Amino acid sequence: MKSCRRGFLAGIPGLLAWGTACQREVSSNPERSLLATTGLVADLVRKIAGPWWEVQSLMGPGIDPHTFEPSYGALRRLTSAKMVFFHGLHLEGKMAEVLHRLEEREPSRYHAVTSQIPASRILGESLESPDPHVWMDAVLWSECLGPITKALCEADPENARDYLIRHAETLDSMVRLDDQIRRLVLSIPPQKRILVTAHDAFAYFGRAYGFRVEGVQGISTATEATLNRLEEVADILVENKIGAVFLESSVNPRTLTKIREIAKRLDHNSHVAAGGTLYSDSLGDPGSGAETHKGMMLANVQTLVEALR
Ligand SMILES: [Zn+2]
Repeated sequence: MKSCRRGFLAGIPGLLAWGTACQREVSSNPERSLLATTGLVADLVRKIAGPWWEVQSLMGPGIDPHTFEPSYGALRRLTSAKMVFFHGLHLEGKMAEVLHRLEEREPSRYHAVTSQIPASRILGESLESPDPHVWMDAVLWSECLGPITKALCEADPENARDYLIRHAETLDSMVRLDDQIRRLVLSIPPQKRILVTAHDAFAYFGRAYGFRVEGVQGISTATEATLNRLEEVADILVENKIGAVFLESSVNPRTLTKIREIAKRLDHNSHVAAGGTLYSDSLGDPGSGAETHKGMMLANVQTLVEALR
């Protein structure tokens, strides 16, 4: 096992050789097995893949993709799956380089689902440092269907017609989800549409559905918030009489507790409550109702409506 790990550290060629030499993916039929890095990507791939492929996710519910370090087993799965779909836009912080090098080497096997989103639609400081949280805008997320459908049609032309039908149906259901979110948001008064969360996962949500978003930690959870930033955000809450800050399922709640304390110090009458937990970078557990992208988006909007209306 140790020699396998050294092979990976020595570079991609070692990783590929090791993937073949070592144990294969544990799947009922490795030839019909697809691997997605995150639950959100797996959810999207399943919609197109239908009954023809088994789709697994490398990261389970509640796992933070920015800081996820692939284990020995995870690397083995990445190199032995028939095809791998990953998010891209540096979401998979610790794996981003490996994934892009694998994609360069085997473009028919490794696919970044965000690769076809026009640069003009991407938020973030720059194209070198993009905001990866595109799933927060249902219509923008549907742009990620294209690379998946294309890859499956090429890998399995016999079922291409079925993939194209599924593509059209999924696109349609994502437009309907977008409509549904807009209608739910209408019950929050416009001046109350301010969303304070630990990290900046909701900028696309804010742009699409009309919220001012104040993330405290920046785009990645790997950075820590400064005291200055905490005070700034507490000020915004007090000034706008916003009564709730929101926790995130995959982020430590410590930062938001600090903001609530500062808001209380600034204004003794301020009662900033924890407005509930939002799903940001990970789907919910099976049975939570948020185990799909649609379920997750609706659960978030419901939480916002209850706390801010
Ligand atoms: Zn994030």
